[in-house]
Amino acid sequence: MTSQQKADFKKKIKREALKLGVNKIGFANVERWSEFAEIAEEFYPQNIWSWSRTVISLAVQIFPPMIETTPSVVYSELYNTTNRFLDEAAYRLANFLNREGFRAHFFPRDCYGDISVLVKKPEAAFSHVIAAYYAGLGTIGMNHTLLTPEFGPRVRLVSVITDAEITPDPMLSGELCIKCGMCVKNCPMKAFTPQKGSIIADMDKHKCARYHAQLKGEFRYPCGVCTAVCPVGEDKKKYGKNSVTPQGAEHCRNFGSKNAVENT
Ligand code: SF4
Ligand code: SF4
Repeated sequence: MTSQQKADFKKKIKREALKLGVNKIGFANVERWSEFAEIAEEFYPQNIWSWSRTVISLAVQIFPPMIETTPSVVYSELYNTTNRFLDEAAYRLANFLNREGFRAHFFPRDCYGDISVLVKKPEAAFSHVIAAYYAGLGTIGMNHTLLTPEFGPRVRLVSVITDAEITPDPMLSGELCIKCGMCVKNCPMKAFTPQKGSIIADMDKHKCARYHAQLKGEFRYPCGVCTAVCPVGEDKKKYGKNSVTPQGAEHCRNFGSKNAVENT
């Protein structure tokens, strides 16, 4: 492909993804995994799918008035919807790339069988956060999530892997995390320990997973407090600091979950 054909094809992919309803899309060449060497090599896309050349990262927003009710069935429903939405969008985009003559598939957005697995082994075979970071969608915050300028960490991610060689997007320079510590302070499990010399806190993923297992049993999974409280993102300006009143959040928690029934 000439450079003009490459640029036109990239625009076509972006148009296709935006038509599917995603909020953000970015492109990372697989060499970025080895260039930055921040995670174990077994997680590099090129070591899992040797033919892969580009990872396309897709993000959809999480609405603040819904996540700010967490833990609640309101947020739980939103979470489940984003999962279906992301997998469907990624499936369709991979199909589109196939029709254009390229190899492509997607890595599903969560990819674990049950929360009981995460309690014992809290990691997935592929990191969408790292992919989105290398694709220029945002930077990684103290709370281990991807922070974006538009939605802070209130995004859900999925990745499409392809052998199409697409010009990568520039990664964001600087850090979006302002190190305010709100995520650390508000975590109900005290799972974060800030580290000297690194913006990313040490995280006890087992503690976080255990809490999620409890919430799942109560039909109000996941937690997401560290995502809800983060002040970064234009969405916080749009909805205001508290997009749901404290009594409104409590009201939502009092309906729909097992916990709500038991507290009646
Ligand atoms: S999801 Fe909840 S329990 Fe897990 S780290 Fe974030 S605030 Fe803590
Ligand atoms: S809450 Fe504050 S410290 Fe935590 S990720 Fe957001 S900006 Fe960083």
